[in-house]
Amino acid sequence: MKKALFPLKILITAGPTREFIDPVRYISNPSTGEIGYSLARFAFNKGHKVMLLSGPTHLKPIKGVKIIYFETALELKKEVDTYFKWSDCLICSAAVGDFRVSRASAAKIKKKDGMNSLCFKKNPDILLSLRKKKKGKIIIGFALETDNLIANAKDKLRAKKLDLIVANELSTSNMPFGNKKLTAFILSKEKIDKYTMVKKDKLARIILDRVENLCYSLKNKKEAERDKT
Ligand code: C5P
Repeated sequence: MKKALFPLKILITAGPTREFIDPVRYISNPSTGEIGYSLARFAFNKGHKVMLLSGPTHLKPIKGVKIIYFETALELKKEVDTYFKWSDCLICSAAVGDFRVSRASAAKIKKKDGMNSLCFKKNPDILLSLRKKKKGKIIIGFALETDNLIANAKDKLRAKKLDLIVANELSTSNMPFGNKKLTAFILSKEKIDKYTMVKKDKLARIILDRVENLCYSLKNKKEAERDKT
């Protein structure tokens, strides 16, 4: 693998969140963390400094990559807030739950007591909360949609001030969870690229190339500005 021109500090989030109902039950999603772990492995092998924030997954830790594990969206937010300052680039591939249970029970809910309803409150949108702190950093998001994929991804790219968004369609014929081929789009302000039935590790390499190009052109721009003054 060709080494990177210049080592970057890359912060990656991966995997699902869990929102607890009681100490033994939670609401989650089928994300496995596959793409985030592939990104972390390639980035490290290319010579970048990588920090991986991982949700619960069956995937093994990556030698040389510092991993911090989270379960809930609030725990993930705390870690992103801590390590964002350190990073040149943030890649948010974690499937963050948009809602958490309003009043999780401290004790296990007993079957005999029943559970007729659950109330939820909104989790903070981590990427949205970073918009104002973005200056000088590259941020990549992911979108998974059942409807209007491109329109929704474009909205997220703009609203969350992302440099790129990777969009995956979710349908009965394209279930992008786990280690399988998928059809994905990479959107930037300028263009949309489509990748048809690619393996996740191939997609991770493509994303990493795009990330490196964006980071290096930002770095060159900063240096040119500095030379002018
Ligand atoms: O859930 P949504 O489709 O808005 O996710 C788009 C991007 O925003 C993803 O990269 C995801 O990691 C991130 N996100 C987040 N905080 C949330 C929900 C999503 O940072 N509460």
